[in-house]
Amino acid sequence: MSVGAGTVTKVAPRSNAGDIDSAGREVDCPLGSTGVEVLGLTTDETSAIGILAEAPRRSGLCCDFDGTIAPIVVDPEAARPLPGAMGALHGLAREMAVVAAVSARSALFLASRLDLSFNSSPLRAIGLSGLEEAFADGTVKLRAGVSAWRPVIETLSDQLLAAVPSGVRVEDKGYGLTTHWRSLQASGAELEAVAARTTEVVETLGAENGLLCWPGKSSVELALPLGIDKGSVVTELCEGLESAAYLGDDNGDLLAFRALDQLRANTGLRTVKIAVSGAEAPSELLAEADLVLDGPSGAASFLEALARRVVPESSS
Ligand SMILES: [Mg+2]
Repeated sequence: MSVGAGTVTKVAPRSNAGDIDSAGREVDCPLGSTGVEVLGLTTDETSAIGILAEAPRRSGLCCDFDGTIAPIVVDPEAARPLPGAMGALHGLAREMAVVAAVSARSALFLASRLDLSFNSSPLRAIGLSGLEEAFADGTVKLRAGVSAWRPVIETLSDQLLAAVPSGVRVEDKGYGLTTHWRSLQASGAELEAVAARTTEVVETLGAENGLLCWPGKSSVELALPLGIDKGSVVTELCEGLESAAYLGDDNGDLLAFRALDQLRANTGLRTVKIAVSGAEAPSELLAEADLVLDGPSGAASFLEALARRVVPESSS
């Protein structure tokens, strides 16, 4: 676990710190040795919760979806958030300045999986890494300039399907494309060859059409070059707040971490960068994190603990 200077470790212990009630709602522990567990929370988790819970109405929380609050599964359509994480996010969204799921998935997929239409909370579902947002009434709002790219995406989708190795899936997300090879039954060496060939094809077609190529877990994505990504989303949502956290598990989430770094340097925002570990977690993400949680179940436990601290019992 890594705790970055200026984030978790800058929390000043309160004079009355150290007590936790039986419900775990007053977790004000002084910073201690990293990794020591207090009622199921490490000191770093407790410190992160303290930062966000000090002034919830001036705090933000953004999180990725796949591999962060939803276990990674072979069929991307089958991905579901852990119920504890989803419940906590809806509860937190009612109490905090902003709570958002920010994913490379389509916004409608996120809204569906997060049950936006069945929960009267202001939880935000921001898809395609910021290009679109879905709302509880089923509407989707696109960023300016996005829709003009649809013909390019349609053409590229056909070209990718024709060029990628057999069995590689091409997901047309409307205004982005993702190639997946997780479901392929093959040896390690064969999968490496598939990944290399697919990445080469995606990079070539992306460069020819002016799109950005983002590697992910058993996938490569083509994204629109509009200067919108998880980093710009986090900057927009969290600028002007007093504290903010981001949870993620993959390369694209580094942009959000670095946006928090910039906000901290420029505005004094108190930040918590949270990596969610897993078999394919990028080492760079783990190294830059203030707090590393053990997979989506660890993320769910953390979010539930934060919700117990922030959300009144009657509304949780
Ligand atoms: Mg992810």
